[in-house]
Amino acid sequence: MTLFENSYCELPKTFYRAAMPEPLVDALLIHTNQKLLAELSLDFDAETLLKMTKGESFPEGFKPIAQKYTGHQFGYYNPDLGDGRGLLLGQVKDAQQQPWDLHLKGSGVTPYSRRGDGRAVLRSSIREYLIGEALHALGVPSARCLSICHSPEPVRREQIEDRATYIRVAKTHVRFGHFEWLAQLGNQADFKQLAHYVIKTVYPEHQNLPEEIRYAALLNSINERTAYLMACWQASGFCHGVMNTDNMSVAGETLDFGPYAFLDDCKIHYICNHSDTEGRYAYSQQPNIGLWNCQVLGQAFSMLLSSEQIEAAINGYIETYNQTYLTKMCAKFGLSHPQPDDKHFIADSLILMDQSSLDFHYFFQMLALFATPEHAQFEEFLPDSKAWRLWMARYQERIDVEKNEPQRQQLIQKNTPKLILRNYIAQEIIEAAEQGDYEPLDNWFNWLITPYDVPEIFKTPEYAHYLLPPAAHHKEMALSCSS
Ligand code: AMP
Ligand code: MG
Repeated sequence: MTLFENSYCELPKTFYRAAMPEPLVDALLIHTNQKLLAELSLDFDAETLLKMTKGESFPEGFKPIAQKYTGHQFGYYNPDLGDGRGLLLGQVKDAQQQPWDLHLKGSGVTPYSRRGDGRAVLRSSIREYLIGEALHALGVPSARCLSICHSPEPVRREQIEDRATYIRVAKTHVRFGHFEWLAQLGNQADFKQLAHYVIKTVYPEHQNLPEEIRYAALLNSINERTAYLMACWQASGFCHGVMNTDNMSVAGETLDFGPYAFLDDCKIHYICNHSDTEGRYAYSQQPNIGLWNCQVLGQAFSMLLSSEQIEAAINGYIETYNQTYLTKMCAKFGLSHPQPDDKHFIADSLILMDQSSLDFHYFFQMLALFATPEHAQFEEFLPDSKAWRLWMARYQERIDVEKNEPQRQQLIQKNTPKLILRNYIAQEIIEAAEQGDYEPLDNWFNWLITPYDVPEIFKTPEYAHYLLPPAAHHKEMALSCSS
């Protein structure tokens, strides 16, 4: 029998408040992530899962709580944050004894709701439900979702929308902002307790280190995982949208999706969040903001660590980011032996793609045809310009050094997903679900799990366009923060 607990309740009471959900009325379980259920060896039947997801009842061992944290939002410290519309239910251990948090989102007001209604809308819930699985399938660390409920009860946002609740699964729900809060309180004893908790649940390899280096090892690991995550986002053309420190997981998983987007055209300075007027979280800024967030976390860790230790962790971020980004981007260009100079080639290529308004994802699909019998298709795809002719000569020169034909084409294909959850596709799925048609949600969920394989249906005229760069009116749908 699966055992559940809520290990977060071991921490001092000031870290959380017990809270019960307000169950969703007339809720329908509209999707279940069977794959994740199987991975966690969970054998909930549909009835149990409906009751859990709507917030009615939970199997024994779960103890719903709202976590207290703070964080920097758009660069400014906000001391008043906490789970305002979600509850940590508890953990389940997988076959390797790794604990996974189960968190119910949209479950009603909590002591940290401030003026919010504690609810989540169907639109953003479906977006999170799909993107977690899509990123996971692309190899990008991410929180995922187990199940989702829809209720016709209205919620007021910019418009009146339907409600939803969903269960999110993540390595932890401890955020950078949890540590910022304890630093603000100046409570070193509690800070250490939280650090031990994170080590125990996420970084057990540090458990037996001597105390003088254990906390530094924790900060190093968080910084490295964050840097790895940023490199994954950049190489996938993924924009998170709200990289506030309260949305940064200490496990380096993508968490708390804002108005996220995959790039359509390769716009280096693309801003997916239309509330982000300064472009703080633009695509090009993400690695710097990841670093800035790690500096804020480092500042909090100055309760326990010296400035040299914090600086070493920052250097770890920079090294991990540079190395991971170079390897991942080189793979996209079919280069299996990255050279330090390749960073200039990658940057120049992205600038040229941006100037020519080429689709970030489709470009690499076409690049796979370079120097193959279908090479002409690649050239036809490119603008007929001197800049691109020079680029092709430069690329040819680079791959002549590499000498990895025909693996080059395979490497590009292995790193180029064909099915991308573009915002216009997510919007079509949402609009169908709002009308009670959940088939597109189910279909796309199954397709996004294997984004490198194209199902037969995409050969039909009705579906073929989903593989191509989107039509102009479908491009770059900027979304607001409201969710
Ligand atoms: P987010 O931008 O979703 O990461 O939310 C920032 C903070 O506001 C978190 O502490 C949330 O729990 C809280 N929050 C956001 N929306 C609501 C809502 N509708 N009701 C209550 N709290 C909310
Ligand atoms: Mg958040």
